[in-house]
Amino acid sequence: MSDAASDVPPDNIFARIARKEISVQVIYEDDHVLAFPDISPQAPVHILVIPKRPFKNILDLGPADAELAGKLLLAAAEVARRLGAAEGGVRVVLNAGGDAGQTVPYLHAHVLGGRPLAWPPG
Ligand code: 5GP
Repeated sequence: MSDAASDVPPDNIFARIARKEISVQVIYEDDHVLAFPDISPQAPVHILVIPKRPFKNILDLGPADAELAGKLLLAAAEVARRLGAAEGGVRVVLNAGGDAGQTVPYLHAHVLGGRPLAWPPG
């Protein structure tokens, strides 16, 4: 829900990136989202897209956040186009919680591409 924003501690690494306390290579940015390279890329294209407003993960989004969720997905597609990965195809992943392997408890979409990606994921 929208008030879940308070669940993200201010010292969360992506919260600090969103506030520009830590500089990153900006791949895409607008008033609502920021995209930057993953520090440990798993594919030739591996970009993270985060909302500037903090949420723990997609499970914390509510109906009032529908526009933000849409902006996150549109930004992921724009990242794929900007990095030349759209033609070959991309995978957009949102890990949420322990079973999904989420390691950073701040909503982020992985944009993966630039090579064939196996399915199903591990
Ligand atoms: P998760 O496993 O939570 O879905 O993904 C977290 C991602 O964040 C991982 O792919 C990890 O490599 C990336 N990551 C962790 N710390 C940093 C950081 O400080 N900077 C950047 N750019 N990526 C990070």
